[in-house]
Amino acid sequence: MKTSELANLRIAIVGAGYGGAAAAKALSLLGADVTVYEQATEIREVGAGIGLRPSSMAAFRRWGIFEAIAAVSSASDYFEILTATGEPIMKDTWPESGEEKNTYLIHRNDFIQALVGVLPEGMLRVGHKLEAVTDRGDGATLTFANGTTVEADLVVGADGIKSTVRRQLFSDQQPVFAGEHAYRAVVDADAAHGLVMDDNLRMYIGRGTKVYALPLRHRNQLSFDVTVLNPDGTWTPNVSQDDMLATLEGFDERIVKTAQDLDWSKVSIRAVYDIDPVDTWHSDAVVLLGDAAHSMCHHQGQGANSAILDADALAESLREADSVPEALARYQATRKPVTDELQRISRQGWTEDELNDVFPGQKTAAK
Ligand SMILES: Cc1cc2nc3c(=O)[nH]c(=O)nc-3n(C[C@H](O)[C@H](O)[C@H](O)COP(=O)(O)OP(=O)(O)OC[C@H]3O[C@@H](n4cnc5c(N)ncnc54)[C@H](O)[C@@H]3O)c2cc1C
Repeated sequence: MKTSELANLRIAIVGAGYGGAAAAKALSLLGADVTVYEQATEIREVGAGIGLRPSSMAAFRRWGIFEAIAAVSSASDYFEILTATGEPIMKDTWPESGEEKNTYLIHRNDFIQALVGVLPEGMLRVGHKLEAVTDRGDGATLTFANGTTVEADLVVGADGIKSTVRRQLFSDQQPVFAGEHAYRAVVDADAAHGLVMDDNLRMYIGRGTKVYALPLRHRNQLSFDVTVLNPDGTWTPNVSQDDMLATLEGFDERIVKTAQDLDWSKVSIRAVYDIDPVDTWHSDAVVLLGDAAHSMCHHQGQGANSAILDADALAESLREADSVPEALARYQATRKPVTDELQRISRQGWTEDELNDVFPGQKTAAK
């Protein structure tokens, strides 16, 4: 689209998670008139770490924000998969993207603060919970719980796994329980009993349990994530520390001791959900992005990265296409085949035997 057309384009983004904030940055660089509406009154993410892949870092470099992200993260050369008792199974470098070879390990809250911190002043409006979206064909109207109504030429639904935009316009399918729980905490490196050795991600796998040890050495901390098969699909399940310790029986003693020392009140406990692929992500004036479009299980560590790459592809499509409808079709054609496949392989976290232990005779979680 022409620079003058982009400058006149009013874009409303719903949700200021990684996807919404990244889209705000990428789309504002086109010169468009962008506003982000977030339901929360304060921007904050739970205490845990994630890895930003070389492809995401390459996007940040294009957007001129690489240094802002690198300043609050550590560069990792490789990841390693080990048995529960610490014997190596495989070790590999991260998939490269152009010049970028490292994955950057970052605390979730540092990441969202860094992204929001690079947005132009006044672009983010907190305290705006979307209640209704009306698609008018050549634009859309958003109605918020605080009584505000907004007209936009393009609406980006970046409102997460339970997306209101998706439910009202594209698909009424509900999130799907993955048959597992994730227990996540950040601990001091000194209290991690030697699990922090360098800047590389390690995953220890036992029967029905995976432990992700993700060092955040720039903070002198370790992000400690225990993912276990469990049939209780309550979003925030009631699990005790002893329940978790039972799943770690026979694990490397550094892992067991770290888990024993956790302050349970600070552990984030969540049942894991994803969504089935959504057939259509866009109309001529509304489009889905990030978890709203393709929430996936975390076994491949690709949810946040996919949201960043969506934002990059959406901006590129608007730059290259002749109109908004053409851009949205291009964006879906570029991104959906990739995320459909990631959704599929991210469901393959467990062996048939492990699933049969926890779900005897059931097909449910055997994805
Ligand atoms: C246990 C676990 C571990 C993970 N590990 C990794 C990892 O290592 N690497 C990785 O890449 N990904 C990982 N992920 C996935 C990653 O966290 C998500 O894919 C990512 O946060 C999606 O970003 P998003 O912006 O699309 O959605 P969200 O982060 O869900 O953000 C949506 C935003 O929209 C707002 N919102 C929702 N509804 C409304 C409304 N009606 N009105 C206004 N605002 C609204 C919400 O408040 C929120 O701020 C993990 C996920 C889990 C659960």
